[in-house]
Amino acid sequence: MKYPEVAPMVLGETVIPSGSTKTVDLQIARLLSGTLIHMPVHVFRSDRPGPTLLLSGGLHGDEVNGIEAVRRMMSLGLFDNLECGSVIALPIINVYGFLFFSRDVPDGKDVNRSFPGSPQGSLASLVAHTLSDKVLPHVDLGVDFHTGGASRTNYPQIRYDPEDSEAVACAKAFGAPMSLASSLIPGSLRAQASSMGIPIVVYEGGESMRLEEHSVKEAIRGTKRLLSTLGMLSQEPPKVRGLKDRRGRHSAPRHLNQTTWLRAEASGLFSFERESGQAIAEGELIGRIRNPYDSYSVKVLAPFDGFIVGHNNMPLVHRGDALFHLGHESDWPSGVGSSS
Ligand SMILES: [Zn+2]
Repeated sequence: MKYPEVAPMVLGETVIPSGSTKTVDLQIARLLSGTLIHMPVHVFRSDRPGPTLLLSGGLHGDEVNGIEAVRRMMSLGLFDNLECGSVIALPIINVYGFLFFSRDVPDGKDVNRSFPGSPQGSLASLVAHTLSDKVLPHVDLGVDFHTGGASRTNYPQIRYDPEDSEAVACAKAFGAPMSLASSLIPGSLRAQASSMGIPIVVYEGGESMRLEEHSVKEAIRGTKRLLSTLGMLSQEPPKVRGLKDRRGRHSAPRHLNQTTWLRAEASGLFSFERESGQAIAEGELIGRIRNPYDSYSVKVLAPFDGFIVGHNNMPLVHRGDALFHLGHESDWPSGVGSSS
């Protein structure tokens, strides 16, 4: 058995015995007003041995779908009667960013590029350190919930490290409409966890500063499937739903590889004819860029057969701006090595 013991979990100064639920406020720093900023960590423990699953949102403070997804899972009581193991739910990692509708912390640094962090470092480094030092040592695997940034929306998708067989298994169990192989980014939570032998996959759904019900619901459906695969949830897992076709019907989920950004060849008003989650055929018209004075119109054509992973919702684009994130369909990796 991989998880033979049910020992008390010690988080900060708080002891959390098996079979109990507790919220621990991990202290980060004070605002200039003297207000203490905490990172509330919600721990749900079964009294039977099993994995400890981390579910985190708001690492980027303006990516609200992940925050709402983790909040709603708790509100639904999803972790109240776990069959085994534990869930650590962390709806908002970057409390500072959430307060100010910002991706970053007030010093302008990205927490997700600041791992492992340091107790003497910047605010971003401090938040990263708290997670690396106090939370991650208890975690066996995790899902970190994000959205697209800067007016770009992502179709609900899981991104995983193709070199890590446990991350591959986690991504498959989640069963998102799209799954993408995605290498680890230095300084990210995912890279830090990987260096500690912990597979974490990233869920992306919707865009920053916009609550989007489809992305929130797919986040919850995928988490239920993962909990079920891990033996932590007894209820029947939701069926896997794939992409919506142009009539709104669900087709099969897709595994994509070799993703690329299609960029604007001109500046102007951008309108998209195809959007995230849709299939594209090489040469097909998927968008237009028009000069606001109507002196030119540039067609945006699909460069290959594939799928739209994400698209830009900004009505004004400049030459070189990202318009569509596109992916080729591919098979899941096979025969990858273990993370540990
Ligand atoms: Zn993010």
